[in-house]
Amino acid sequence: MICPICGKEMTKGGIVLRGKRIFGEFTWYPQDAFDKKGLKAWDRSNGKVIVDVDMSLMGEKKFDNAYFCESCSKIVGIFTTNI
Ligand SMILES: [Zn+2]
Repeated sequence: MICPICGKEMTKGGIVLRGKRIFGEFTWYPQDAFDKKGLKAWDRSNGKVIVDVDMSLMGEKKFDNAYFCESCSKIVGIFTTNI
């Protein structure tokens, strides 16, 4: 994949979320909603949930399709929404 920031070739990999006592949602919002503040702006109906995280004990979640750019130190992830 080509880096959308600097145009160089990126290295394919994946993201691991690791920890314990993590509860929450990893959610994408369109820019106008994202720029607002508060839980009302971040309504579930205008977001795309990538994953529900519920790790009461030590655990891990893996996300494939993430790319790292050596040139500008950016990571780009491709996530599938479950909504
Ligand atoms: Zn780059």
